[in-house]
Order: sequence, then C-alpha cells, then structure tokens
Amino acid sequence: MLTETEKRRYERQLIIPGWDESAQEMLSKSKVFIAGAGGLGSPVLYYLASAGVGTLAFCDNDRIDESNLNRQILHSEKSIGQLKVDSASASLRDLNSNITLMPIPDTISANSIDNIVGDVDIIIDCLDNVPTRHLLNRYSIKRNIPLIHAGVSEMHGQITFLKPHVTPCLACFFPETSIKMKIPIVGATAGIIGSIQALEAIKYITGLGTVLMNKMLIFSGLDMRFDCINLQKNMKCRVCG
Ligand SMILES: [Zn+2]
Repeated sequence: MLTETEKRRYERQLIIPGWDESAQEMLSKSKVFIAGAGGLGSPVLYYLASAGVGTLAFCDNDRIDESNLNRQILHSEKSIGQLKVDSASASLRDLNSNITLMPIPDTISANSIDNIVGDVDIIIDCLDNVPTRHLLNRYSIKRNIPLIHAGVSEMHGQITFLKPHVTPCLACFFPETSIKMKIPIVGATAGIIGSIQALEAIKYITGLGTVLMNKMLIFSGLDMRFDCINLQKNMKCRVCG
C-alpha cells in the first residue's frame, strides 16, 4: 500500500495507463546497481531516484574535476574535489529523501565485484572504460542479472538491454580492448542516452512496455536520428556461448 505522501509524490506517473499502485510498489522494492556516477550515471541516478526506485547502489572512486561539469549534472562547482559518490548522494538526497542510497567509493575489479555489486535486480553500465564493462558483463551472466549497456561519444550513443541467456551478452558484439582515451562528449548526449537507460530500467521493473532486448538503439545527434539494429548471439562467445 502506498502512503498518502507517495500517492501525492508519484501522482503524475500513477496516472499513466497500466502504471498502478502495484507498479509503484515494485519500483520501491527494487534495488538497482549503477556503475559510475559521471556523465551517464547522472541522468540515470536522478531519474531512478525521482521515479521512486527503492534502493540505489552506485559505485565510483573518482573525485570531481572541473572538466566533469559539462556533463555530470549530479555535481556542481562547490563539489569539485569531493568524491563523486558523496556529491551524488547529497544531490539525490535533496531530490528524494524516501529512498535508500548506497554510495560505494571503490573500484570495480575481478576481486571486488562480488562484494561491490552483490544481489540486485538490474545492473546499469554507466562506465567509460571497456575492461570494467566486460567485468560487469561476466558478473551479469554468472549471477543471471540483466545489464543495461550504453556508451556515448561526441553527439552519438548506443544502448541495449542484455538479459543473460536470452539476448547476446556484451562480449558477443563488443571487443575487449584496454585502450584508454579521453572521450569527446557534449553533456546533452549523455543526458539523452542516460535517460533512456533509466526508462528501460523502470519499464523492466514495472513490466510496462518492451525493452531493447536483441536490439541496439543507435543515436546520431549530429543529424538527429535514432536507428535500431538487431543483435545476434555469437555462438563462439567465450562468456555466454
Ligand atoms: Zn556472449
């Protein structure tokens, strides 16, 4: 049963056809893990907090730099030098004081991932490096937890919903590289793709609509196009094959 406060707070989504009190309760009982509290993590965390996802666990070990502020809207000038998870917690607490926040100032590694991610309903990939994305992917397969993958660069981005043993996994189509580079990015691009990640998570938890399974949504901001391509399992995949 929703409280009167929750009914008022979530009124505008409770009047969406199919989104009844039980859908809202499913959100409040869910736990989502967000890897990264930067460009993608900012819109993802803001929109999941505002929608009433009950528990948000988020991991980032970086501190805020001035050059983050063109896109990482959880943070502001006064939080430069702080841990991103601390600044994120403060922003999210201001937005919604009725949800549980689990900030994790740590680095995801093969040794730490079990403790850091634990048991959650969905994992959201808001990372900026390829090796850690593949660690998350292997964890998702091992623990049978869906993974919402996205990536952004300049004015384009991509997103897909990976469900273990139902869809391809990340390793089926995304090569493992360790090349590190400074990714060019305008904040609005991360805003668009991160918002879609949040919406996919909300739909999956509430059971509303369909998610991007076996499909990759590709956004080209320069000519303002959305395209969808089909993804196929790689039968020789070393992770899920
Ligand atoms: Zn695979």
